[in-house]
Amino acid sequence: MARAVDELTALLGDDRVRDHPLDQHLFAKDAGLRRGGAPIVVFPESSDEVAAVVKIAGAHGMPIVARGAGTGLAGGAVPQEGSLLVVLTRMNRIFEIDEVGRTAWVGPGVVNLDLSEATADRGLHFAPDPSSQSACTIGGNVATNAGGPHCLAEGSTVAHILGVELVTADGSTVILGGEAPDTPGYDLRGVIVGSEGTLGIVTKVLVRLTENHLDAATLLMAFDTIEDAARTVSEVIAAGVVPAALEMMDKPMCVAVENFVQAGYPTDAAAVLLADVLGHPAGTAASIELLSDIAVRNGATSVRVATDESERALLWKGRKSAFGAIAQAAPDYYLNDTVVPRTRIAEVISKTYEIAERYDITLMNVFHAGDGNLHPLVSFDAAEPGMTERVVAAAREMVTVAVAAGGTLSGEHGIGFEKRDLMSSVFSPEDLDAQARLREAFDQDGVLNPGKVLPEGSRCFDWGPA
Ligand SMILES: Cc1cc2nc3c(=O)[nH]c(=O)nc-3n(C[C@H](O)[C@H](O)[C@H](O)COP(=O)(O)OP(=O)(O)OC[C@H]3O[C@@H](n4cnc5c(N)ncnc54)[C@H](O)[C@@H]3O)c2cc1C
Repeated sequence: MARAVDELTALLGDDRVRDHPLDQHLFAKDAGLRRGGAPIVVFPESSDEVAAVVKIAGAHGMPIVARGAGTGLAGGAVPQEGSLLVVLTRMNRIFEIDEVGRTAWVGPGVVNLDLSEATADRGLHFAPDPSSQSACTIGGNVATNAGGPHCLAEGSTVAHILGVELVTADGSTVILGGEAPDTPGYDLRGVIVGSEGTLGIVTKVLVRLTENHLDAATLLMAFDTIEDAARTVSEVIAAGVVPAALEMMDKPMCVAVENFVQAGYPTDAAAVLLADVLGHPAGTAASIELLSDIAVRNGATSVRVATDESERALLWKGRKSAFGAIAQAAPDYYLNDTVVPRTRIAEVISKTYEIAERYDITLMNVFHAGDGNLHPLVSFDAAEPGMTERVVAAAREMVTVAVAAGGTLSGEHGIGFEKRDLMSSVFSPEDLDAQARLREAFDQDGVLNPGKVLPEGSRCFDWGPA
């Protein structure tokens, strides 16, 4: 290990190679629950440096884990013992913005919101807007195929990535995808998006930029039951109006948000829906009317339309501060992530409450209702003996309920460590084997983010000629 530190220091300098126990502690976890341990943490600033770092790690038999801002919730960036952690936050340059073609080449360490702010004066933005967008990086978004409130109409990250530069397991650099509308050959760019650092390190990203909308309005609809709110969601989508965003928060969540930011959410409603309609003024007016009608028909007790920018911003601040708000209730939280068919939202949420009651834990719900992406959120104190184990066991049951309702393991946070062992609940051994073979095609020796995404023993057949 000392030799690896020397070689890395010769490449990057003292300041960008850390092996102090404090650094090891700081970088041992992401925003999820699990902790790991990397003896060495490095901060490259260019693609060439990443390639050289990968070669040094290879020469010393060290596994490699890529890390963006560490806001991931599935343990994807948590280093397995003995790994070299490659932090990409210093690769945060926006290299080129093509205003006409509406694309940009950016470093993987660019913070999501910084990109939209840098392109705002050209009337453009990067559409995927995870609630963590003021901290998470574009590289992390690519690796997790991040979603966000406004991905309902615009699609998740994969729809906004045209190409990536990737440093592979042997330290080669390749470009996958590109500016051509339909690059020939297999869509390897699509394979990289959502691969959670297991197929290579993303060192540059060609993003698609989206035009800012001429008009925007936000609706806040309150309901006496979660069922009424969930029915409204299904009917809105069935009516063919896909709002830019359609979020749900239940009563405990609204109370927590109001205590935190006073955004104007009702604290007596069982559930609220927050919808954004964007587009041409004539179109937004028609959408507001249609959404309001559907909500009222389904029992909405109030519909508030915020049309000026400050009122809209305040309502969205409430939604995006939800995770900060719950920090008032307890020092720790666990945010689950599953997807269910929209028609099963109410039923699955009520089962999550039954589970929470049985495990005696505090549950709130805040989620991307338009695409059925549930986020049961448990607020707890990890210092309480046995509490973390209870939270994890309850979360597993919640995932099982979602899968039984026709849903799946993750809508946007990824699999990481957290859900790795649940993969066999949605994939057959043959499916897992096919995925393991794909991974092996990129990383024969399994050095990239080992232990993540696929469960142990995913390869079920012998590989290669008989
Ligand atoms: C408060 C809060 C709200 C959130 N809201 C959302 C949300 O609305 N939608 C959503 O999708 N997620 C959300 N997340 C989860 C998280 O922010 C996203 O998964 C985000 O995309 C992670 O980005 P990051 O830079 O922090 O990546 P990290 O956490 O550092 O890494 C995540 C994964 O990506 C890999 N990785 C990172 N960079 C690279 C790279 N350059 N090359 C290859 N692999 C790489 C890592 O190995 C790891 O597997 C939220 C998290 C928090 C804490």
